[in-house]
Amino acid sequence: MRFNNFSSYMRKTYGGNLEKICLDGNFTCPNRDGTRGVGGCIFCGARGAGDHIEGLVDIQGQLKNFFLARPKVKRAIAYFQNFTGTYAPVEVLERLYLDAISDERVLVLAIGTRPDCISEEICVLLEKISTRVDVWVELGLQTIDDDVAAFCNRGYRTEEFGRAYEMLTRHGIGVVAHMMVGLPNEDFEGTKRTLAYLNTFRLAGIKIHSVYVMRDTKLCEMYERGEYTPLSREEYVRRVVYILTHLPPDLIVHRITGDCVKSMLVAPEWNRDKNATLSEIYDALERQNLTQGCFYQSN
Ligand code: SF4
Repeated sequence: MRFNNFSSYMRKTYGGNLEKICLDGNFTCPNRDGTRGVGGCIFCGARGAGDHIEGLVDIQGQLKNFFLARPKVKRAIAYFQNFTGTYAPVEVLERLYLDAISDERVLVLAIGTRPDCISEEICVLLEKISTRVDVWVELGLQTIDDDVAAFCNRGYRTEEFGRAYEMLTRHGIGVVAHMMVGLPNEDFEGTKRTLAYLNTFRLAGIKIHSVYVMRDTKLCEMYERGEYTPLSREEYVRRVVYILTHLPPDLIVHRITGDCVKSMLVAPEWNRDKNATLSEIYDALERQNLTQGCFYQSN
């Protein structure tokens, strides 16, 4: 393998693959309820990045349904993906998280959130939970360019990422950063700047997402007005190859493309065929004999 992908990490660490249980904690987002903004990020759908999550039963019920449907699964990750998974009073979070790890087959608690929704008391709670299962927090940075971020209505400044990272790592919680490739007004140089910034941290992992246009989003309105053009697959592959070759060689790469629910996808068409995108990335690395971190320079 030419990069340190998530499956090999799981094999090394847990002796095999872990199934992901995408849980719905009934969260909202400060970028939707008026605390930080309204309307959410321009690319975010009504389900807050959790369009494939079904069922709105409580967490224990969701776990039970998951394992009933997949009796052979022995190891799993409980994943709070949609909306902002730390955006609730800490007592509520504690109940949700403890319910999420209540089945002994759950070995990892993963939480997707925003840097401005991390506090000391949440970190203390996560540190306590990390004595029972592995815990990581995924922070949606997307870009370090505050102008691009403001245009995308991200609703927080980049410096808040550093503050959240410091707090979480001080409590022993790994940070997985999300970056998006192909945001409006962000060229290849912008992608490089975001990567250079991320390389100043000791991350526990990275998720690289391609920007796609989903139905019923602000980005979709822009696309229909001709104000946004998604990257071509070729350009996306070029940027991902750059990212992979400039990452620390040992960083875990959780994903290298984004996945839209097919019925919600407006553009680009190439997003419908994830395997083709993945194989173009693998081929490009292979053809040029490149590996993760081959051009990495530590700070
Ligand atoms: S912070 Fe996340 S959940 Fe909130 S609007 Fe942006 S993408 Fe959606």
